[in-house]
Amino acid sequence: MRNIIFIAPPASGKGTQSEMLVDKYDYVHISTGELLRDEINSGSEKGALIQYKMNNGILVDEEIVGSLLKNKLEGLNNKRFILDGYPRSIEQANFLKELLEEINLCDVICIYLDTDEKSLMNRALGRYNCPICGRGYNVYEETEKPLHEGMCDDCDVPLIHREDDNEESFIKRFNTYKELTEPILDFYQKNGILYKVNNGGTPEETFQNIESVIK
Ligand code: ADP
Repeated sequence: MRNIIFIAPPASGKGTQSEMLVDKYDYVHISTGELLRDEINSGSEKGALIQYKMNNGILVDEEIVGSLLKNKLEGLNNKRFILDGYPRSIEQANFLKELLEEINLCDVICIYLDTDEKSLMNRALGRYNCPICGRGYNVYEETEKPLHEGMCDDCDVPLIHREDDNEESFIKRFNTYKELTEPILDFYQKNGILYKVNNGGTPEETFQNIESVIK
């Protein structure tokens, strides 16, 4: 199975699909958003700068994201990876291409989750996660609500909401995606490694669509 770069708008379910792939196949999930949130939680000075940018829906400086990513990719020990949240610009796509060549990891495809963009804002504003098991909920979707308001069904602990999942930050993230990230699709199309996957159904249906590409 080949390494995967996921491209999709914010709150389109890349994280959920990545977790499903990790559960079923032996992938390592590399989310630059998660790497940055870990850096914030470490309490470092760099973390404070990152937090400001993330909360405001602004891209974090390339030197910071690039070096976190490089460390992670260099420590893979021959495991396959899913890249979620990187690249987000043509500049990052070029950096990634060179990095992967340097460390000899060129068996990569780009999966684009073709997503209905109308409902994304509600998905972001309504999403909550369990801090223990990571399970995701959505308070605006009847089928994705927790049984008891604000609590994880499995762990019985309070759910958390990402600070940057507010309206203002979401609009900025979405616009940045349209302006800087979407043009990368053309880049991967020209490289002959772009696969478009329908993300219009349930998460399970999207997962099956992804499986038919990676197999
Ligand atoms: P989403 O896909 O919902 O926007 P992420 O967790 O992928 O969520 O990213 C959250 C934030 O982290 C982004 O708005 C940005 O501030 C920062 N970030 C994540 N990946 C990158 C990246 N590759 N380059 C710059 N900033 C990034």
